[in-house]
Amino acid sequence: MRLRIATRMIVAAGLISGHAFPRQGWWMTEPVRWVQTNLRQTDARLDPAHLIDQLADMRANVLLMGMGGIVAYYPTKVPFHYPSPELPPGMDLFGEVLQKAHARGIRVVGRFDFSKTQKAAYDAHPEWFFRTANGSPVIYNGLYATCINGGYYREQAMKILSEGLKKYDVDGLFFNMFGNQSHDYSGRDVGLCHCDSCERKFRAMFHRDVPDTPDDQYRQFMFISSRQLGAEIGELIHRIRPHAGYFNYIQESTDGIMSESNTAVGRSLPMWPYSASDNVNRARNSEPGKMSVNLCMQFVDYWWRFATVPQPEIASRLWENVANGGALAFEVNGTLDQQDRQALDTAKPIFRWLAKHEQYYAKEESAARVLLLSGPAKTGRKYSQNSYRGLFRLLSEEHIPFAVSDNMNWLGKRQFDLVIASDWAPKELAGYAESGGHVLIVGPNEPEFPVAPVVRTWKDMKGYFRVRDHSLLPSLRETDLMMTDGAYTELKPDPKALLTLIPPSLFAPPELVHIDMKDTDKPGLVFVSHGAGMVGWIPWDLGSLYYRQSLPAHAALFRDVVNHLDPHRQLETTAHPLVEITWMKQDGKQLLHLNNLSGHSDTGYFAPVPMRDIKIRMVGTFTEAQSQRSPNHLAIRVEGGYSEFTLPQLSDYELIVVQ
Ligand SMILES: [Zn+2]
Repeated sequence: MRLRIATRMIVAAGLISGHAFPRQGWWMTEPVRWVQTNLRQTDARLDPAHLIDQLADMRANVLLMGMGGIVAYYPTKVPFHYPSPELPPGMDLFGEVLQKAHARGIRVVGRFDFSKTQKAAYDAHPEWFFRTANGSPVIYNGLYATCINGGYYREQAMKILSEGLKKYDVDGLFFNMFGNQSHDYSGRDVGLCHCDSCERKFRAMFHRDVPDTPDDQYRQFMFISSRQLGAEIGELIHRIRPHAGYFNYIQESTDGIMSESNTAVGRSLPMWPYSASDNVNRARNSEPGKMSVNLCMQFVDYWWRFATVPQPEIASRLWENVANGGALAFEVNGTLDQQDRQALDTAKPIFRWLAKHEQYYAKEESAARVLLLSGPAKTGRKYSQNSYRGLFRLLSEEHIPFAVSDNMNWLGKRQFDLVIASDWAPKELAGYAESGGHVLIVGPNEPEFPVAPVVRTWKDMKGYFRVRDHSLLPSLRETDLMMTDGAYTELKPDPKALLTLIPPSLFAPPELVHIDMKDTDKPGLVFVSHGAGMVGWIPWDLGSLYYRQSLPAHAALFRDVVNHLDPHRQLETTAHPLVEITWMKQDGKQLLHLNNLSGHSDTGYFAPVPMRDIKIRMVGTFTEAQSQRSPNHLAIRVEGGYSEFTLPQLSDYELIVVQ
């Protein structure tokens, strides 16, 4: 509902970019091996020839480097734009790097950050800047935070960008920090911007003042403001440099969707070892016309930008990026002359290997036949990340190739065997099911269309479900009870339900444990015919429970329910659950990527455990399978519509090209 409001408002305000069709620029047609150097102002003295030699040596083909914004790396004539004080007089660092990079076939994407600037600009134009509730500016290490609704972003930044775009034949621009952060880099809460522009625009939209803390309307306001600004910047770039790409953390109006796989010391556990797969899979399948550039951040947290995360963590993120059809993308702070060389030493051989096999790493598209909905992103609607991640892990561990989308734009364009929703089950799924689609909803939130009569939703049900029919749930043959915790939506009682609720009962002292346990006919799972299709609903939070507890009973239920709705698996394998397998396609070829995640444990990343003799059955009739990382011709046996072969060994990663 909230998504629809936000979308309608954007459309009504005429803010959607004019690009009806995604642009097929170099980022979509060439293999991308991207290195981002977050330069410091002191790096303005770097030696361009040395930097380009280092990039060429590791076979990087895109350099993202500091261009302007907080600090410019070229002489600039635009007022309130400040070259690095370390830039030698008369030197044009950006221009020299660009010229040398192009001469070696390396593309250059310029980085801008307009989120802060110097005091002189604030003194001349205080109205351009972020203003806290008590009227003061936000100052961080001497720099003043600007406001995305103020004149610095809306007018001055456009002048700065125009100068840069006219002067340099850049291959793209990237923007950092886009949208009035409510916390500074040190984690200090600065609240919301109360500048005149924000107050005026917010009042026009919602007829009230900017609140003190973000609510749904404020989140919509920031979403709309940043997309409006994003569209203006996109139009400017595309007008002055039609062949340059526009890269930003937002999806709208851009050519490339940026994201990060990073760590933070205060982030709650568990770690998310699928971070890169998650970001890239979602970006590529939510917006198939755009490239996903998921930056593998080498550092532990802001305070320690020069301390790197474990090498196998860097490696697994890089493999995950390309296994899902995204750019290979790696980030360092400062130049490539690092004080901790572990990250770069990990990335280099991966960059070189992917360069050697680059014909397989462009124009990849997901071939997955299962879709996982991730919920409408960044529109103000709250969404359970744990539920989603639990289902993501289950699909990966079950080796079910799946695509992730945060929207319904795939409807009518791409056919899936099964669509899985967690707590966002939009009404469009009803029509999809009626025309023959199969849908699985996992979560207590009521779908936006009727599935089964709802009695009520319990906020916290610390109970069990009884397995009533083991023949239809064969993976649960040794289990009569499975736990549930958290919300449960009670559906109309059904004496024939496969799974039924047992409400909370006594659990202590041991003498009294569950002696009062009572069965009910309240379903924990329903299957409903919808026109020509079918909808399954597990009306409790199996996804979150699996994310936190990893109980085999929950995995078993998920497996049996998926098998019921999608009896013909696209892929069957003996691979260990921690081998992530993605199925991509490229020009008639099938590309199976195997990423060995067995080195991850709790907060540690170690070398993956080598695996042997992995049997794989793929639906379809193929004649040739060739593994690339350990080069082998794999003998294929075709039977019953499946092609079967065995991968003799898996080290860290493998690509099997099948045709
Ligand atoms: Zn403001």
